[in-house]
Amino acid sequence: MKTMIVIVKTAVGYCRRSSSKQKGNHSIEFQKEQIILMANRMGYVIEGWCIDDAVSAFKTSAGERKGLKELYDLVLNDKASAVFFYDETRIDRSIVTFVNEIYKPLKLVKPNVKFYSTTSNQEWDPFQIDVELKLINASYESVTKSQRTIDSQKNLMNQKKRPGSRTPFGLKKIPSSDVQNENFIEDENASLIRFIYYLYIWGYSIKHITKILHNSQAPAPGGKVWHRRTVEEILKRPLYRGDNEWGSQKNIIKNPVIEPELYELVLQAKDLEKKFGQFSTAFTFRSIAYCMKCNVPLKTRNDTPSKATSPRKYQNYFCPNCNQKANLNRVHTVVNDNFFKHWAVALRSMEQAGLQKLKEMKKVIEKELDRLKVREDMLKYNESFIPSLETPSSIEKHYIQVKAKLNSHREALNNTLEQILNLLEDERSLRFTLHLSLSGSFNKLTDVEKRMIALTFIGKISINMDTMKVDIDYRLHPFIELEDKVSRLTEINNYKMDA
Ligand SMILES: [Zn+2]
Repeated sequence: MKTMIVIVKTAVGYCRRSSSKQKGNHSIEFQKEQIILMANRMGYVIEGWCIDDAVSAFKTSAGERKGLKELYDLVLNDKASAVFFYDETRIDRSIVTFVNEIYKPLKLVKPNVKFYSTTSNQEWDPFQIDVELKLINASYESVTKSQRTIDSQKNLMNQKKRPGSRTPFGLKKIPSSDVQNENFIEDENASLIRFIYYLYIWGYSIKHITKILHNSQAPAPGGKVWHRRTVEEILKRPLYRGDNEWGSQKNIIKNPVIEPELYELVLQAKDLEKKFGQFSTAFTFRSIAYCMKCNVPLKTRNDTPSKATSPRKYQNYFCPNCNQKANLNRVHTVVNDNFFKHWAVALRSMEQAGLQKLKEMKKVIEKELDRLKVREDMLKYNESFIPSLETPSSIEKHYIQVKAKLNSHREALNNTLEQILNLLEDERSLRFTLHLSLSGSFNKLTDVEKRMIALTFIGKISINMDTMKVDIDYRLHPFIELEDKVSRLTEINNYKMDA
């Protein structure tokens, strides 16, 4: 008789329920059932449960949640060799904190600990999530939701009902009543709206986004097909950010579909594209790479013969001044190495620096508004000395012009101030940007994504093409375009007000 030695591996299961109202697929019991099934399949026994009940993943970061803390300690003390959870939405709506505060530190001290989600038979690896999921890593939830949406839309179609209405796509209108004004809440398509914004901040063109939506048969507004214009309009629509587009009434949605920072990054992506051209290029560092000797921006050249017999590519960066050139791969390798080392250290400080910068910008703008007030008062004072004549004098015309200038300046300042305040007020500020941290593996990114990261986080790269030594100026915070705008707005303006 053979003796069978069964080695039972122990694991810990993690469940989270965001509110006591959650039933069905998200109830703790359901999550447990699925986790046990999955663990058994993988040869594990769940020895203990860590449960966060009625905890919003949005408000509490992963490292601060009781259940996750227990989990961390269990694994740290070798009580479990694997972690099972139901799906990504159960860990954290923004998986970044989970990855940064639990996954990465545990993997560092316990490299053999394994993570499993019941949604996949593969070991869970946040760096291996496939491209589209990775792009919306903030809300894996969105994907499941979209799928559900697609299913329900298909059902509607089958019943010959037309999905959608005149209310903006992704929103449901709650008509005004005696007690409150007209209001909007998210419907099941809101996740698609977010998906579009995410793709855009990663540098994907409107054309490309339209293609993705079309190919994945995502439901389009009004049950039609996706057009570039539809996507463009979705990226612009103020209602998604909580602003009414018809009047001055602001913040009419309590929880807007698009958080201020996400919109900020959309504006930033637009500006970056305007400044540096489209993102899809193999030359990731074009226009930020400089010749170290001549201090001029390197140009790029594709020297691959059109009828190349070998698949080898001859893509080069070259200096228009000294004509020295360097192969694309060599340049990218040295920059990537440097970038990667810098990355791990920089991220944490970047979050702090970003907040700090926002506060600074707020002060600068407020100061400028004060100065503007002084100018306006002076203008009024001077104006009182103008003798009133029947026909407006050239002096009066001049005053009118200056006033108009000051007014539009104040308006621009106020708008920017509001933009900054929105970012500061948002509890999740900077989370989105830090999502870029998930791309710990720069090389796995697409060309578009690489370029977006490079333009966002690097100011200038100086390359010595003899030694391949690089000097990189990293940006200290992610709000580059906003910073530019603030400094443009607060440069000493020469208003000729002495008449
Ligand atoms: Zn040169």
